[in-house]
Amino acid sequence: KNNGKNQLVFYETDRAQHEAIRKNIALEISLRSALDRGEMFMQYQPIVDRQQNILGMEALSRWRSPEHGLISPAQFIPLAERAGLIGSIGMWALETGCKQLAAWTQDAEKAAWTLSVNVSALQFNAPSFFDDVLNILTRTRIPPHKLILEVTENIFLNAQGSPLQEGIRRLMAHGVGIALDDFGTGYSSMNYLRNLPITRIKIDRTFISDIAHSKKDQGIVSAMLTLAKALDLQVVAEGVETTAQFDYLKEAGCCAFQGYLFAKPQDISAFSS
Ligand code: C2E
Ligand code: MG
Ligand code: MG
Ligand code: MG
Repeated sequence: KNNGKNQLVFYETDRAQHEAIRKNIALEISLRSALDRGEMFMQYQPIVDRQQNILGMEALSRWRSPEHGLISPAQFIPLAERAGLIGSIGMWALETGCKQLAAWTQDAEKAAWTLSVNVSALQFNAPSFFDDVLNILTRTRIPPHKLILEVTENIFLNAQGSPLQEGIRRLMAHGVGIALDDFGTGYSSMNYLRNLPITRIKIDRTFISDIAHSKKDQGIVSAMLTLAKALDLQVVAEGVETTAQFDYLKEAGCCAFQGYLFAKPQDISAFSS
């Protein structure tokens, strides 16, 4: 009987795993045609200054599948990476964002906005990536200093002095900004800060959520702000949801903010007029 029970449990797990795999394959098949079928779209979330004036927008990719509904980028980006689709989705995101920024630039009120686009580590493996970025900027007539690529520190793993860093320095020489996203959640942030070509850090929202109350988080964020200042890096606080968080961050000297307190990511229609 013991054996039987164990076998049954094993069988159930097996079936659950099998089901998860089947679901993932179905998602991947749908994702393969998502761009062609026009199922991807972009939402934009403002990055604001201390007076809540908009400094720029972060482009956040969305996928609405007729078969699977609205899928979060936290799910489809890793899937795209595994399926070899991140190159085309990444280029779509850059191009869509830059075209939108070009349209906003026609509007006096929005002319100074910057555009931040998330770029996955795997995109840097394509030798043409750096030229592709510059070509998109030329084609959409976006001045390079208005584009900020958001990367996570995993892009720099094993990349000391590599073509990757050269490529990034080349983009930076054109004026393109490089933001280290989710700052503080990785492994060796200090080392990265010392060596890497970046212009901005984005303090991860896990350090912001308790900032109004937690002495520890206050200490960490103050240290990050001091560090950024010493290294001449811009700082954006991510995930600001309450006035108390915003007030604390302003008091601590932070100058740029992003979060639901100001606006959720929204369709472009929300920013027109
Ligand atoms: P991220 O770049 O760190 O973007 C911030 C995420 O936090 C977004 O989630 C945003 O909707 C969410 N957020 C913003 N303000 C708040 C807040 O006040 N509270 C809370 N709880 N959340 C907030 P989203 O849109 O689901 O994107 C998740 C991640 O997916 C992004 O994290 C980014 O790493 C990735 N991603 C999105 N679009 C792209 C893309 O086009 N390419 C690549 N490679 N990655 C992308
Ligand atoms: Mg980001
Ligand atoms: Mg982030
Ligand atoms: Mg992220």
